[in-house]
Amino acid sequence: MKNLLALNWKMNKTPSEAQAWAEELKTQLTLGDAELAIMAPAINLQALSWFLKDSGVAIGGQDVSAHESGAYTGEISAAMLKDVGAKYAVVGHSERREYHGETDAVVATKAAQAQAGGLVPIVCVGEGLDVRERGEQVPYTLAQLRGSLAGVGADVVIAYEPVWAIGTGKTATAEDAEELAAAIRAELHTLYGEAAESIQILYGGSVKPDNIASICAKPNVNGALVGGASLKVADVVGMNDAL
Ligand code: PGA
Repeated sequence: MKNLLALNWKMNKTPSEAQAWAEELKTQLTLGDAELAIMAPAINLQALSWFLKDSGVAIGGQDVSAHESGAYTGEISAAMLKDVGAKYAVVGHSERREYHGETDAVVATKAAQAQAGGLVPIVCVGEGLDVRERGEQVPYTLAQLRGSLAGVGADVVIAYEPVWAIGTGKTATAEDAEELAAAIRAELHTLYGEAAESIQILYGGSVKPDNIASICAKPNVNGALVGGASLKVADVVGMNDAL
C-alpha cells in the first residue's frame, strides 16, 4: 500500500507564507512513492490549491463541521473543503479533543459528514501519557477507534498519535507504533472485513526526516501525520525522499 505523508500545519502560516512555501516546495520536491498531502488552515486552502495544481500534492482541512450547512457560525463544511480542491479532512486530532471537547461521537459525526461530502477523513486516535504508563494503550486506543468510527464507512485513513509524543520530541519507537497499528488493523477487520487491508494507518508524534523511514517500514504503518517537521520545505523534502 502507498505511504501517505500527511502534513499538519496546525495554526501556522498566513496565506502569504503558505504561497511562498508552496512555491518553494514546487522547486524542490520530486514526488516519489509516497502521496503527499497538506492539511492547512482553511484560509490557506484556496491559495495552496492554486499554487499546487498539477503538482500531484493533495490538500486537506484540519477539521470539518459535523453539520452539512446552515447556522453554525465559524464552521467550515465538507462541501466547502471539497469545492476548494481538498481531498482529506483531519478529524479528532488530540488538540481538538482536548481544547474543544470533541468526543468520539462528535468525531464520528464529523468523519461521516466528511465522507458524505466526498472527502476522506483522517481519524486521529491515541493515548495520553497516563494511559501509556498504565500499559493500557491498546484497549484505550481501540475503544476510541470504535467510538470515532461509529457510522463511518471504510473510505477512511486512521492516524495513531500517542498524545505524549506530539510536539514533545519524544517519538514512539517503531515497535510501539507497530504494536498499535497492528491492533488497529485487526479492529478494522472486525469493523470492515477485507476492506481493512486497504485502509492506511499513519503514525504521528515527533516524526522527522531521520525517523520516518524506520517507522513507516513497519508492516502496518502506511505513512505519517507530521506537525512540527511539516513547516520547513527542507524537512518535507527530506521525509518525502526517505519514504
Ligand atoms: P508533531 O505533531 O509532529 O509536531 O509531534 C503531530 C500531530 O500533532 O499531528
